[in-house]
Amino acid sequence: MQNYIGPEGVLAKRQQYFYPCTSHFYRNPPQLVKGEMQYLYGHDGTCYTDFYAGVSVVASGHCNPEIVERTAEQLKTLQHTCTIYLTQPNVELAERLAGVLPGKLSRTFFVNSGSEANEGALLLARLHTGRRGFLALEQGLHGRTYLTMSVTGMRMWRSDPQLPELGGDPDVAFIPRPYERGMSGDEAARRSIDALKAVLAERGGEFAAMIVEPIQGNGGMIMPPDWYFPEVKALLEQYGVLLIADEIQTGFGRTGRMFAMERWGVTPDIVTMAKALGSGVPVAAFASTDEIAASFTRPSASTFGGNPVSSVTALAVLDYIESHRLPERAERLGGLLVAGLRDLAARYPQLVSDVRGAGLMIGAELCADDAERGARLVDEVLEEMKDRGFIIGKNGVGRNVLAFQPPLVITEQDIEEMLTALEQALNIVLVAGGGNGDGVRP
Ligand code: PMP
Repeated sequence: MQNYIGPEGVLAKRQQYFYPCTSHFYRNPPQLVKGEMQYLYGHDGTCYTDFYAGVSVVASGHCNPEIVERTAEQLKTLQHTCTIYLTQPNVELAERLAGVLPGKLSRTFFVNSGSEANEGALLLARLHTGRRGFLALEQGLHGRTYLTMSVTGMRMWRSDPQLPELGGDPDVAFIPRPYERGMSGDEAARRSIDALKAVLAERGGEFAAMIVEPIQGNGGMIMPPDWYFPEVKALLEQYGVLLIADEIQTGFGRTGRMFAMERWGVTPDIVTMAKALGSGVPVAAFASTDEIAASFTRPSASTFGGNPVSSVTALAVLDYIESHRLPERAERLGGLLVAGLRDLAARYPQLVSDVRGAGLMIGAELCADDAERGARLVDEVLEEMKDRGFIIGKNGVGRNVLAFQPPLVITEQDIEEMLTALEQALNIVLVAGGGNGDGVRP
């Protein structure tokens, strides 16, 4: 065994050298040292089945040999040049993306992270329309840079306390999302559309773009009704406002389609991509039509964007997604996971309030009527699941949603075993809470 310092050692160094704002999951976190497809290994050899994929990243599996061998070969051959020099992997990747992106989205600008992709997309929309304003959904998450934080509706991710309160920024108008506890999906979506109509009628000419996550991830797996995004797109078109689809969590098969917007037949004007495209290697991009791309006339380049190593990796990822039909797999296995979770919701109604999402992007909300209690229970369930060898995630505005976003290579057996462990975990928090308490073990 290698010379691992163990979780206590890692925690001590994090405490000493990381920024204090850096948080971690778990009371007793493992030190993860190895990944193999849907499995992660702790320093003591414990195997964990990963149902979170490093926050929806390693869709094609950890250290997938079909991918990393090509990455390693490229690392040994040509590591970096910058886009100012001619290389082949990035043009092949751009061509490949043009083939999978919807409609006439055939131009790609490569960057390194989701935040950077959204930042670029927002700037592009301003350059193309000559307008300054943005529309965004409440409880959305679009990144950590200043502009992307400004269009992020989730308060917990608006890290600068000097940012104007939601609605206080003259450049950003927030629209209610198509979800509200206690309302039907149709009612909440109708309220969202009505608010969008009202703001467009008043100030439509001010907005360059509306940025949306097709299914809000961090906001708690919010799945709109089928008619919602087609109506949003039609309304925006009336006012010449571009639609930016942030497919950073939803893209590349996760939701049962290559891109989630395909589900509703909507072609956005700009699509942003990151996470699963590199399956662990940083690569991100924004894409648009020829016409919109032509508006980006000022010099712009990214030092690492489109580097050979990231580009070759993304090409290998796309090969893997296509040859293993991962979108179809996500749709099929997602159905199994949802059915299992709904069964648990029916049998534990005092704990599981709702199960929602698409493909393998599924959330199970705990104690929706008391999110604080739900959040405590979610932490307990995560801890219990980790002790049983399963890594699951959490999200939601109240952090009371269990998040299931496994590598898409997960198997039926993994799902069945996870559901069995989840039932045990739910029982434990139920009993620890005296049947109805906060479920925290003494
Ligand atoms: N958009 C969405 C939908 C995201 O989920 C995230 C990250 N969780 C981002 C943007 C920002 O991506 P990154 O952390 O790569 O900057």
